[in-house]
Amino acid sequence: MKKYCINLLRSKKYTKINKPILWSLIAVLVISIGILAVTSIHHSWEKSKTAMVNGEAFSPYESVFVDNSLKIPHKFCIQVFSPVIANSVPFPEGNQTNFINVLPRGDDPECPAKYSKVYNKNGHKCVYLTFDDGPSNLTPKILDILKKCGVHATFFVIGNRAIDYPVTLKRAADEGNLIANHSYCHVYKELYQSPEAFKADILKTQDIIKNIVRPEHLTNLMRMPGGGYEKDKAPFRKAANDIGMVYIDWNAENGDGHSNHLTVAESVANVEQFAKTKEDIVLLMHDAPVKESTYLSLEQNINLLKSYGFEFRVLNQYD
Ligand SMILES: [Zn+2]
Repeated sequence: MKKYCINLLRSKKYTKINKPILWSLIAVLVISIGILAVTSIHHSWEKSKTAMVNGEAFSPYESVFVDNSLKIPHKFCIQVFSPVIANSVPFPEGNQTNFINVLPRGDDPECPAKYSKVYNKNGHKCVYLTFDDGPSNLTPKILDILKKCGVHATFFVIGNRAIDYPVTLKRAADEGNLIANHSYCHVYKELYQSPEAFKADILKTQDIIKNIVRPEHLTNLMRMPGGGYEKDKAPFRKAANDIGMVYIDWNAENGDGHSNHLTVAESVANVEQFAKTKEDIVLLMHDAPVKESTYLSLEQNINLLKSYGFEFRVLNQYD
């Protein structure tokens, strides 16, 4: 056998047949080493972007609730998203709980970072259910579930859809839900073409909402399509302030923003992850025909949050 192998290795036939295989093996080996190296460099780069705050890791752009003593490492800064404190005020003051985003430093160099406690962990759990992009033909069904469960939600509505559902929106507001602004067109290219275009679009939606809900139900709260936390949204955050609007993002989601094929089980599992770890939740969901599992999982998610001891509020009841 040994002799046969030596002969085979020495034979021209072996060299001819196996050279390409040998080169393929070397190529595979080199590519594998390359992938491993790139993965580990990327991993450590990702890790370096994580903000460790009081022993908890936060990714940049992750939204968290904080009190006024939040301490963020120097290379990160925070951005305040509070309906109570206008978002033009960069730092929380007093003992108010604020909704913020952790941003990599450099996004907003004026934002110092010297606070010392994440989350307002006082044992009181509060959830704000929010529905973006409605109204839709599902809104009445969502309202029925909210009513049945005895809870309220905040609807960030799109102006050009609101005009088709005035009765539904009025019903939502009359039943104790909050109707807030989510732009008129929701088309990023149009909405974010300039701060002036943005202001006009938001004010147009305010007028539409104003004509539908009772004056006492009108709010200056809004959510920017796509969220308001990105660096290039800075001019629009300012524009929102200029016209007296207060914007808020979210710190939890049922996951329907990532897929139209989300299952009920996935939606519930996603919400449970946040229910286990947070005391204050602003839960992002969508009110749209293609997001059926959101409506189908709603009652289960509400019951789940209740079982974790959460109180349900709308966003103008922010402490
Ligand atoms: Zn939206």
